[in-house]
Amino acid sequence: MMSEAPRLPAYIKLRRLAQRDARLEGTLPLSQFTRLAEHSALSDNALAQAAPLEAELEFFFDEERWLVIQGVARCHLPLVCQRCMQGFNYCIDLRVSLVQVASDEEANELPGGYEPLVFQEDELPIETLLEDDLLLALPLVPLHPEHECQQSIRNYQTTEPEPCINKRKNPFKVLEQLKLDSS
Ligand SMILES: [Zn+2]
Repeated sequence: MMSEAPRLPAYIKLRRLAQRDARLEGTLPLSQFTRLAEHSALSDNALAQAAPLEAELEFFFDEERWLVIQGVARCHLPLVCQRCMQGFNYCIDLRVSLVQVASDEEANELPGGYEPLVFQEDELPIETLLEDDLLLALPLVPLHPEHECQQSIRNYQTTEPEPCINKRKNPFKVLEQLKLDSS
């Protein structure tokens, strides 16, 4: 995607977009994600200075008349390594596959592969489409890759190395972990 992509609209009308099979492509400042800014791994300042999220989203009605939102989004989140307390950029690639439903009951009728977006209004802030997935994609414990982390290099020289945690952790693994934690 080009870096001079336009900024995505702050509010979107789902029904109108889906009726004309619209495709939106553009950027969104990370500071717009207020729940993300409250996450302990990030600070407001870091988000305000970070490069914007880039997204491509398609809106349409599928053959069963579900209102579908599909697309991809990418950003680099400024996190703080919990081993050496230095900042680093964490790359996140999201796949969006949502269906608007009016209630949790309706969400239960959804075919597999879709995630429900429980929302009754037609107009919504665009970050609503991405923020849940963005939060789920955050690592539980942000850490540098082993070879880039100052603390870890020191540990290698003196004591036992810390266990290596992969930077590109599978988001579905994180989701499983969150489900385990909350059950
Ligand atoms: Zn580190």
